[in-house]
Amino acid sequence: MNTKLNRSEWHRSIYSSRWTSEGVNSLEVMEPATGELLDIVGLASKHHVYEAAEAAVSVQRRWADTAPGTRAAILRRAAALFEERKPEILEILMRESGSIMPKAEFEFASVISELHEAAALTTQPEGLLLPSGSPTRLSIARRVPIGVVGVITPWNLPLALAVRSIAPAVALGNAVILKPDPKTPISGGLIIAQIFQDAGLPAGVLSVLPGGAEVGDAIVRHPDIPMISFTGSTVTGKMIARIAGESLKKVSLELGGNNALIVLDDADLERATSAAAYGSFLHQGQVCVAVGRHIVHRKIAAQFAEMLAARAKNLPVGDPYRENVALGPIISQQQIEKIDEFVKSTATAGARLLTGGKYDKLFYQPTVLTDVLPGMPTFDYEVFGPVASITVFDDDEQAVDLANRGDYGLSSAVQSRSLDRAIAISRGIKAGMVHVNDQTIVYEAHAPFGGVKNSGNGSRYGSPTNHEEFTTLQWVTTNEVIPAYPF
Ligand code: NAD
Repeated sequence: MNTKLNRSEWHRSIYSSRWTSEGVNSLEVMEPATGELLDIVGLASKHHVYEAAEAAVSVQRRWADTAPGTRAAILRRAAALFEERKPEILEILMRESGSIMPKAEFEFASVISELHEAAALTTQPEGLLLPSGSPTRLSIARRVPIGVVGVITPWNLPLALAVRSIAPAVALGNAVILKPDPKTPISGGLIIAQIFQDAGLPAGVLSVLPGGAEVGDAIVRHPDIPMISFTGSTVTGKMIARIAGESLKKVSLELGGNNALIVLDDADLERATSAAAYGSFLHQGQVCVAVGRHIVHRKIAAQFAEMLAARAKNLPVGDPYRENVALGPIISQQQIEKIDEFVKSTATAGARLLTGGKYDKLFYQPTVLTDVLPGMPTFDYEVFGPVASITVFDDDEQAVDLANRGDYGLSSAVQSRSLDRAIAISRGIKAGMVHVNDQTIVYEAHAPFGGVKNSGNGSRYGSPTNHEEFTTLQWVTTNEVIPAYPF
């Protein structure tokens, strides 16, 4: 077994239940830090969605009937192969998605946990033993796979966000068709296809089709794909939900956020500003659970702003693969222009720019804006860039009210030396996740990750909630003899 990645396999190819270049267009993968070509892979079309769906349907029942121990062994073997190929995978994550090494390592570690958690799912008891009106009727509800799951993912944590759906879906007996974002097709999909193939996953159980909206749309509309697991923007998520709703497909949506970090007047400011900087600037702020809004008590607001701005100024920005930097590039020109527009329009609306607000090529300087109020763009919308907005509050009730403003409800955090006060505030926050004495980017493969409001539709990834996401209940009754009926 070759323990290295075989890059020639995905050259101008896709994995439509097998490596193929038939009817495939070329997709150039660029390195955002240098603007240079990293690789050329295959670009799938609608036709490949039909082909992959047919293959998935034909093998899914057999896969679901495969012994749990066999399914688990394949997932554990995949984890081992990821470990063996770790240096190459980290390199691709850094170069393709602009990750610094610690972010790539964090992402990689979460993939390994996801695979082990998913392997364990296969033998967890799930279902209900139900009372029945008849003493001779055995009544149970068992969990059965949904069938073929369409997984659509973004570019920011391409590897982890794909594996967190694929691993539990496959573990629980489903087949999967993955469409990674075309900006990160290698770390977001082709690596995964290769490792699962090498780990012994039967052909057809997984297909990986790099492509744009057209391919995603074909997956969403396909009649033989009864579930869509989508991670991405709220706008796209809502569009997918509308289309999928017409055929009553199950849709699991993990969408955008503009997450609040509340800092109380008694917080340890050294720790608070360090956590705040990490929460806003990790991966250039291109993280769904990044801190978008720092909601800070008036007594400490000036000092907090000064300390956060000082930290921001000290963070080096550059090529994460060739230099030792804290922030890498923004993923694209379109994205960096959007970030800059957010910063400029918020400053024009009356906020004070303490540092940053400038960029060169795709490198945006970590930015701190203070005196940001509701109604200003960076308060109201998700920036998805390295921008920390500070808003001042006077009492705890106002802090909760400010945190709850806006359409999103993904992650949140509260910092204080008074745990009772922080916990009371945390109970008032309308978000899928709240972290006391921490920042908002917290991820563990076994914890239920998800948001409310415009951040998601209540779906939750993370064992054991993956049973809920990737299976459906089937009520089964067994009578000792056929009951007598009056007709
Ligand atoms: P996006 O919605 O533009 O794209 C996400 C995926 O959807 C890509 O694969 C894209 O090709 C595909 N897509 C686009 N249009 C489609 C269509 N009409 N039909 C089917 N598929 C389509 O998202 P983005 O802007 O690239 O990603 C960033 C967003 O993702 C941010 O809002 C971020 O907060 C969110 N996100 C959420 C989570 C979470 O877990 N909640 C995690 C990461 C990112």
